[in-house]
Order: sequence, then structure tokens, then C-alpha cells
Amino acid sequence: MVKKQAPFVQDFDTLAIRTGIDRSHFNEHSEAMFLTSSFVFDSAAQAAARFSGEEEGYVYARFTNPTVTAMQERLAALEGAEACIATASGMAAIMAMVMALLKQGDHIVASQGLFGSTQQLFGNIFSKFGIETTFVPAADVPAYEKAIRPETRLIFVETPSNPLTELVDIAAVADVAHRHGVLLAVDNCFCSPALQQPLKLGADIVIHSATKYLDGQGRVLGGAVVGSKALMDEVFKFLRTAGPTLSPFNAWIILKGLETLRLRMEAQSHTAMALAQWLEGQPWVDRVYYPGLPSHPQHELAKRQQRLAGAIVSFDVKGGREAAWRLIDSTRMISITANLGDTKSTITHPASTTHGRISAEARAAMGVSEGLLRVAVGLESLQDLQADLSRGGA
Ligand SMILES: *Cc1c(COP(=O)(O)O)cnc(C)c1O
Repeated sequence: MVKKQAPFVQDFDTLAIRTGIDRSHFNEHSEAMFLTSSFVFDSAAQAAARFSGEEEGYVYARFTNPTVTAMQERLAALEGAEACIATASGMAAIMAMVMALLKQGDHIVASQGLFGSTQQLFGNIFSKFGIETTFVPAADVPAYEKAIRPETRLIFVETPSNPLTELVDIAAVADVAHRHGVLLAVDNCFCSPALQQPLKLGADIVIHSATKYLDGQGRVLGGAVVGSKALMDEVFKFLRTAGPTLSPFNAWIILKGLETLRLRMEAQSHTAMALAQWLEGQPWVDRVYYPGLPSHPQHELAKRQQRLAGAIVSFDVKGGREAAWRLIDSTRMISITANLGDTKSTITHPASTTHGRISAEARAAMGVSEGLLRVAVGLESLQDLQADLSRGGA
């Protein structure tokens, strides 16, 4: 007897633990992992019915797999969505969404300061297939409206932005999108549904790199597109044919990661907040970028839109690149890597890594200075993080 837990619970914490369990086989208590690429049928007639979609059920793991389904149901529940399609990576999620919902000649309006590969995908790859993108300043709501053309189909934003933690007002941009019959997609990677639920603010689609906070422990790649059943049916048609599917093993890791998502996000946000306040008081720091600080220009919006300010803290050190590199090289604990969303804190110098391919002038115009550092705060103690940053700060 299949005991579906979801209809009987509704709180985030409970959904994170209890959604998507299918005990139809062995009454297992913990979520089972189904490593099978295909599924057998009782008869030729059933095979035909499954292939045609007349009968629901598993066919082949490029389409679906029970472990992937469980993860999809759990993430959909946490975002307050009807449906979710899991993908092999965050980039695969963005690709699948655009390939499924847009066509040649369509136009995208996107916020500036997107994740580097997303910018490349929009600017250099979709453009080859006749889908053009206009980039607008993330916080400038009227700019989105001005950039809309008759052929615009999608507004795509990321909030808070990387590395300067600029926010997009999701409700205001959703209003712009819907007045023009355009879809709004939000990359919710930096907040996760534990801190921000874009669909509840009016967005149509949520994108995830599950590689980051959803796994949360730096183990696997994964991604997801989340939204209405009608839109996800379209994304599914692309996925089952083109194949950027999530593996059941990775789905299982992410499924279990979701159980501790809120606890991790809260702990990491609280440490990030304390670290940002401490950094603001350090004589070697010029400026701190963190939505939780009253000095952040969109602090009020952050309080409205997010439960907590997140775990990404950026700051300018005095002395430019030389001082920034010295600080990085003096750390003994924090990992020097551009990854984020891990229990292990990481530090990166955007101007020479993630934003290194952008010209120095363009970087300066974006506000990514030579002295800018980004710390993705993990689960280590505040005191050890402060001590590690202090080694090279002074
Ligand atoms: C990492 C990341 C992605 C891409 O995800 P992958 O899983 O690496 O493909 C997309 N958007 C944001 C904001 C990211 O941080």
C-alpha cells in the first residue's frame, strides 16, 4: 500500500522530511535509491500504454526514475509548486527551460550580474539559435519594462546577485512580466526555498543549481526547474527527448540534503550576518556587501522578500588586488575555490576568477573592484572564520 505523506502535512520542516516517500515495495523507512535504467512491463499491451502515456508509470530513466520522482516531489513541496523537473546540473535546468518554452525569434530580458555560465549561455549560445537576450541592471525595475519587446517571452533574474548581493524585487518584476504576458523565472540558488519562495512572490518558474545548498555538502551536481504542472509538462517533453536528466544516485543525495536544508541555511545565514557585522568594523575593510546589514541599499527589500539574508558575504579590502590576494593566501582553513553552498566555507577573488574574462573597465562599471573578496559561509564556527580572515587582513 502506497502511503503518500505529503497531503497530510504542510509545514516546511515536515515537508522536507516526509514528502516523496513511496513505500510500495518493501516498506522501507528511509528513502530507497533505485539504480535502474529501465523498467519492465507486465505485457505488450502495458508497454504500449506506458510508451503512449495512456498509462502512468516508469519506462526508462532518461524520462523518470522513482528516486528522481521523490526528489522532484520534495523540492516542489518546499517551493510551494505543483511540479518540478530535475536535471543533471543547474545549467541543464536553465537550458531545458529555455529550449522547452522558447523558440527561434523569441527574446529574453535578464538581470545583469548573472552566474558566469548563465551569461555565456544566454549571450553566446542561445543567440546562435536566434534567441536574443537584453541584460538590464538587476535592481532597476523600470529597466525590465523598457527592455520588453513584442517577441519577449521570458524575464530571467538571480537574486541576490553574485558577488555584490544586489537584489531583484521579485514581486515588482513579476508584475511587469505579467502585464506584458511574459514569464518570470528566478534562479533561487543563493537563497533556496528555506529563505525565499519566488513563486509565492509572483514568479512563474524557479531554477535551482541543486549542486549548491540543496545538496549542501559539495558532493554532487544537480539542478531543477520548478513551477506549474502545465509549464513543467513542456519542460518534461524536452528532457525526456534531449536527456539532460538527473541520475538517481545524485537525486538520492539531494533528497537527503533537503531534509537538513532549513537548519543549514539558518545556521549559515546567522554566521554570515555576524561575520558581515564584524567585517564592517575591521580597519582593513573598505565596504561590506550583505543584504542583512542596514548599510545595504536594499536592506528593506531583503527583509520583505527573504526570511534571512543568506550565506554569501562580499567585501572590499583596502589595498586592491595585492591586499586581497595576500588575505586569501594567509588563510589556513577557508577553501580557496569559487564554489559555494557547501558546509565548508570558501573564499574567492572575483576579479581574477569568476569575473576574470570581463574587461577591467566593465568590471569596474559593475562594481567588482580589484580588492573585492567573496566568502560563502559554511558551518564552521564564527570564531574560526574570523581568526582565519584576520591572519591576512591586518
Ligand atoms: C552554480 C550556479 C549555477 C549553475 O549550476 P551547476 O549545477 O554548476 O550547473 C546557476 N546559477 C547559479 C546562481 C549558480 O550559483
